[in-house]
Amino acid sequence: MGAVTENRKRVLLAKPRGYCAGVDRAVQTVEEALKLYGPPVYVRKQIVHNKHVVATLQAQGAIFVEENEEVPEGSIVVFSAHGVAPEVHEQARVRALKAIDATCPLVTKVHQEARRFAAEDYDILLIGHEGHEEVIGTTGEAPAHIQLVDGPDAVDKVTVRDPSKVVWLSQTTLSVDETLETVDRLKRKLPLLVSPPSDDICYATSNRQEAVKAMAPSCDVVLVVGSQNSSNSQRLREVAVDAGARAGYLIDYASEIKDEWLEGASTVGLTSGASVPDDLVMEVLDLLAERGFGEVAEVTTADEKLTFSLPQELKRDMKAAAAARAGEVAALAAGATQS
Ligand code: SF4
Repeated sequence: MGAVTENRKRVLLAKPRGYCAGVDRAVQTVEEALKLYGPPVYVRKQIVHNKHVVATLQAQGAIFVEENEEVPEGSIVVFSAHGVAPEVHEQARVRALKAIDATCPLVTKVHQEARRFAAEDYDILLIGHEGHEEVIGTTGEAPAHIQLVDGPDAVDKVTVRDPSKVVWLSQTTLSVDETLETVDRLKRKLPLLVSPPSDDICYATSNRQEAVKAMAPSCDVVLVVGSQNSSNSQRLREVAVDAGARAGYLIDYASEIKDEWLEGASTVGLTSGASVPDDLVMEVLDLLAERGFGEVAEVTTADEKLTFSLPQELKRDMKAAAAARAGEVAALAAGATQS
């Protein structure tokens, strides 16, 4: 028997990956609203930052708008998982919109912190990306108290009223390591800087980055399924390259994979952002198998069990509709017995 040439091609599949509890809740909110009220249901901004999810909900009757003023008066509007400033709720009230708030509870927690520290007259340094919807929403809670710090290099520009009364908060979907670096530089400048009561970068962001860090050093290339405007997906690609992958690519669909990315690669890492349904990852696995990467090993660094219940305002209406249906059934049954 001749010598066997080892030409092993494999995929390392990160776990956890994909949908987080906040995204799952937001997507379900739109789906349930469509079932309950019927289309159209308006959604302010992309419900979550994923092209495929948005297109799927659009096909079911959701209409995505940028601002409340595009929503006809009296209609139903869902606010996205990234959160909104209080003025957006007020605009909805003025237009008599029925608003359902799908803001992730972990974003709401940061809003609450912002309100609390502003009420205590702190200067709040919000670490985050300029223009990101979540940052706009959180800043709207206390615009006079919040200044944005967009990465470590922005620290030099920070000025505060009283260096003994400053706190930092952050966007939920940042790079954990880069944020630590920003905080470190802030602390050197402001030694009395107060930290948030608990981590603002959410469990899903940190866990997905940890899993990528664990597999990236063994990977020639890491593919991240996620959309370009998804902050947590972008961070996964960066973390992969920083952790040792030769290259990292962000793709919405398997069809975007270019053959040259896989040339000479023996190990491909695969993960997905927190707003990505797992079907899209499975499609990438199918395509990789066709290219000879049929062996798949999962790299697990955490087990996630968190779930969030649907927004109260929606649950209330679902309950009322269920009660009305039960009443109708009972009345029909009573009618049948009498006849
Ligand atoms: S990424 Fe984190 S903050 Fe954003 S929706 Fe998911 S759990 Fe919530």
